[in-house]
Amino acid sequence: MMNQTGDLLSYKLSDSYFERAKKVIPGGVHSPVRSFKNLDRSPVFFEKGDGPYLYSVDGQRYIDYCLSFGPLILGHQDPDVKSAVLNMMDKGWTFGACEKYSLDLAEWIVENISYVDKVRFVSSGTEAVMSALRIARAVTGKNKILKFDGCYHGHVDSLLVKSGSGLAGESSTSSAGISAQVASETLVCELNNFKQFEEIIDRESKNLAAVILEPIPANYGLLIQTNEFLEGLQKLCKKNNILLILDEVISGFRVSLGGMTELHQLDPDLVCYGKIIGGGFPVGCYAGKVEYMNYVAPIGNVYQAGTLSANPVGMVAGLATLKKLKEENIYTKLSEKTGYLAKRLNSLFAETNAGLRCTHFQSLFWMHSETVSPIRSIAEIPQNQAALFKSLFLKALDLNLYLAPNAYEVGFMSAAHSTEVLDETIYILERILKG
Ligand code: PLP
Repeated sequence: MMNQTGDLLSYKLSDSYFERAKKVIPGGVHSPVRSFKNLDRSPVFFEKGDGPYLYSVDGQRYIDYCLSFGPLILGHQDPDVKSAVLNMMDKGWTFGACEKYSLDLAEWIVENISYVDKVRFVSSGTEAVMSALRIARAVTGKNKILKFDGCYHGHVDSLLVKSGSGLAGESSTSSAGISAQVASETLVCELNNFKQFEEIIDRESKNLAAVILEPIPANYGLLIQTNEFLEGLQKLCKKNNILLILDEVISGFRVSLGGMTELHQLDPDLVCYGKIIGGGFPVGCYAGKVEYMNYVAPIGNVYQAGTLSANPVGMVAGLATLKKLKEENIYTKLSEKTGYLAKRLNSLFAETNAGLRCTHFQSLFWMHSETVSPIRSIAEIPQNQAALFKSLFLKALDLNLYLAPNAYEVGFMSAAHSTEVLDETIYILERILKG
């Protein structure tokens, strides 16, 4: 296959690295989606990122809309983030003791995010979620939690579940190695199905410690929920002494500085962050109301700790990112750029009868198989989504456009994607669809 400039696209070195990787790493990858599973080709190996681009070991340049699955809202190697990191490296990279870098980031978050009184930094979104659930159980003295089908919250045992085949709310494990007992303590509800939510709450409120939700579910397509649905959940949680945990690992600092919580004026008890908060370094965070955060050790009896928690390099990278997002009013521009891309793509899809649609929200977008009404739950995703995506992904890859390698992953826009880059993206899709 030729790329845009007419060169023969090479994957030779990538393919040879993958052969080596499979010998020493399960499936050749450290996180399953990186393996290009279900896409019938082996993954591309990259060696460099710069602005909106990724560079492969085979010397190809790709426009990147995966952006490390969300953290790189400023693009690869943002100069301000890079300079903060390099300055930090001159002073050391982990102390395992009190330092001022996490204090600066914590204070900035508390000052800028109105619903956060206290924060605790961890090293991943998974850890943040796991810790928030522990607090909820300690606060309420109840054991069960409720999640929504299609929301992903990291690889916490109790959240690797999907809806079961029995009673509304019943779950089954979505990974081997999880005990049936752990799974049975998580109830699963359909997104956008308030009636089912009420039914489960009616039956189980005395056992439920927390309801956890991605306020804009973005891990199984982009399943935009209505304001009424979000407010309804919040109301029932408050009424029944159930903590509402909003998982803003993707949406936090992305859809606005204050995430979906701010956009929808929600009032969660605890919020989980990851991705952008570490500026591309491994940082997660759980945060929220002081009465709940004070349950955490050493002042409370909910234990949670970490050798590399609040790693100074991640702290300065996170602070540089958040400050820039605020100071340069980047959200309006990001939203306009994503809107422009989606509009142009939707015209192209209509003109070519591609059977595709691009749904977007702020700087998130998802190309999916066309439907009459918005897709708000996983049941509404058309059956041909995986096949349509696979064909699009492979053709795009051959034309130097890198989308997240899975039909249900969303696309991310960055501040580094210029109008020229967007127009180049549209041109690539035109070539694919018009031949
Ligand atoms: N929550 C959400 C909404 C996520 O999207 C993710 C990861 O993609 C996580 C939690 C887990 O975060 P991490 O991969 O940093 O453990």
